[in-house]
Amino acid sequence: MHNGSHTQVLVLGLGPAGASAATEAARRGCRVVALERKHEAGHPVQCAEFVPAMLGMDVPDLAASVRQNIRAMMTFVEAAPPDVQEQFPGRMLDRAAFDAALVDDAIRAGAQCRFDAVVRRVTSTGTVELANGETFSADVVIGADGPRSHAGAAIGQPNTELVHTRQITVPLSRPYDATDIFLSADIPGGYGWLFPKGEVANLGAGVTPRYRARLKQIVASLHETLVQRGRVGRDVLGLTGGLIPVGGMKQCSSALARTLVLLAGDAGGLTNPVTGAGIAAAVYSGRLAGQAAAAWIGGNRSAGAEYQDELETLFKPALDRAVRRRTELAAALAGGALPRERVLRRGWIAYPEYWAA
Ligand SMILES: Cc1cc2nc3c(=O)[nH]c(=O)nc-3n(C[C@H](O)[C@H](O)[C@H](O)COP(=O)(O)OP(=O)(O)OC[C@H]3O[C@@H](n4cnc5c(N)ncnc54)[C@H](O)[C@@H]3O)c2cc1C
Repeated sequence: MHNGSHTQVLVLGLGPAGASAATEAARRGCRVVALERKHEAGHPVQCAEFVPAMLGMDVPDLAASVRQNIRAMMTFVEAAPPDVQEQFPGRMLDRAAFDAALVDDAIRAGAQCRFDAVVRRVTSTGTVELANGETFSADVVIGADGPRSHAGAAIGQPNTELVHTRQITVPLSRPYDATDIFLSADIPGGYGWLFPKGEVANLGAGVTPRYRARLKQIVASLHETLVQRGRVGRDVLGLTGGLIPVGGMKQCSSALARTLVLLAGDAGGLTNPVTGAGIAAAVYSGRLAGQAAAAWIGGNRSAGAEYQDELETLFKPALDRAVRRRTELAAALAGGALPRERVLRRGWIAYPEYWAA
């Protein structure tokens, strides 16, 4: 064990944001060390694995990890028949394979990727302490360590608003190519989903922390309804969950003593607070963070500010709108506003009301 190692770029976390950041910085000639607490890239999966096709924002190199294409979106508001969005394309991934492929890219680019490396703390001077006592310093620390980022906490930018989720994998009764969304006042602060992936489907729900104790029952009852409708089988083939940051974008560039600190992906609050989609934003912000780190090391003292500006241009309008809609929805439901169907529609991306001023 060597104490006090110094490197140019230290990446915390090897999810899509961290792996993308490590790849970009290493390709630009930086010495990169990446620390990941998991034993193996991508495992366990904590994701519903859907990547919407977004104009001009296609995630690169996805093909090998795609398990099926999605054509449409069906939104079920309370007990009403679904509203159909015929054009809502995207892809269902094998998220474990996707994350592992991104880490392979980082290793090929020359980043030193360490697994079983648990970050315990980032100090006020930018030193990164591991649970095993090792310490690291770096010219740039990239916090890509997810919703509860240590780097984010160290620069005073923690994700304070989070949605809790629970997801099971179930057999699908017949092939399906739409994402089903279930909106209900009984799933407070989130929604239910059924996302098909070949012969199985990811079935889950997210809620605000206050209702966390209800999650198990919410998912079980959604499962039961779908079994009754003949959509899915009764078996539960897998169980996962996790946190989704829903408070919106953080200040993603800061400094601790002489260390530049950049946040990317969930750590930076870049996940959409309404849909929970964060894979594409993680990859994009990770790439930009890696490029900014290399620019900083190359002597560009405005690289951090430029990174923040780029993120704001790319993500902030959509994130701000989603935060507004979440807040309105919560207030309207708390106030007992009726009809709740109308309130729920305004809070979901499938409806024109969501996009209205
Ligand atoms: C149930 C669920 C369903 C979701 N479904 C979708 C979906 O369908 N589509 C979509 O686009 N998004 C979805 N998301 C969101 C998506 O998973 C995230 O936005 C995405 O993973 C963000 O990538 P990231 O690299 O920023 O963070 P992560 O993927 O969370 O990666 C962070 C990494 O940091 C590591 N780490 C954390 N703390 C430490 C530490 N102390 N020391 C060392 N390593 C650490 C973690 O192990 C992890 O590997 C879902 C999230 C959840 C919870």
